[in-house]
Amino acid sequence: MRFDIMTLFPAAVDAMMQESILGRGQKKGLIDIHTHQIRDYTANKQNQVDDYPYGGGRGAVMQADPLWRCWSAVCDELGASAHTIYLSPCGSVFTQEKARQLLNYDNIILVCGHYEGIDQRFIDECVDEEISIGDFVLTGGELPAMMVADAVCRLVPGVLGDDVCFTDESHWDGLLEYPQYSRPDEWHGLRVPEVLLSGDHAKIARWRRKQSILRTLHCRPDLFYKLRFPYKTRAERKFIAELEEEDDGFKNRDPKNLDRSK
Ligand code: SAM
Repeated sequence: MRFDIMTLFPAAVDAMMQESILGRGQKKGLIDIHTHQIRDYTANKQNQVDDYPYGGGRGAVMQADPLWRCWSAVCDELGASAHTIYLSPCGSVFTQEKARQLLNYDNIILVCGHYEGIDQRFIDECVDEEISIGDFVLTGGELPAMMVADAVCRLVPGVLGDDVCFTDESHWDGLLEYPQYSRPDEWHGLRVPEVLLSGDHAKIARWRRKQSILRTLHCRPDLFYKLRFPYKTRAERKFIAELEEEDDGFKNRDPKNLDRSK
């Protein structure tokens, strides 16, 4: 899978994308991440990519032409169609489900805006979809582009070593992940829940499932009720009934009252 990131700050994006798991994924040839300096595609001596907004108002707008030239050069280099995404606070909010959908494309172009954004005509002509990373405004599209590329690349088979690494995580099946602990088994007087030291895999799996459900219920009730996931099957309904019986966490919505020992 290949990502092409159109940006005014390719060095900053490269520095991050060549590190750690994504860096290793690229060395193994599983993913390919390229950056493109939009300024290299201007037709003026100053390499200016922005101008004042028609209709007045503050700030500057990135012009359509340098963006289009850069995008056309990337398409020519690819020699194949690419799904083009503009990172924008006006797009649909990015989710894990969206990351899974994007995995279906072999080539994705990510366009990073700056200033007041980009000329709408480039969006109308070249962009397939707009993605936001949340209901707030950043100075540029680089962080959002890196977030999208990171979330998708780690799902590419082989990048994380084992698929369980992400199928067991928050948001995969609509729930948040259970709490994690590492050594030592006692720290600042706080003990790791005994069940995790028991070696009883069935008990550990049940504890994790229960904590996952409780954490989602407490921290993200919107997800819990929207997906209605835990109530899908008869076995799940029975499990929830058991949890309600044995844990006050279901009745008392204050996360501080979560009992992690059982
Ligand atoms: N004037 C624009 C508006 O009000 O919608 C905001 C422009 S913002 C200052 C500059 C650039 O940052 C955008 O073109 C976009 O690429 C990026 N950006 C800012 N916030 C974002 C978000 N929440 N999600 C994705 N991209 C974002």
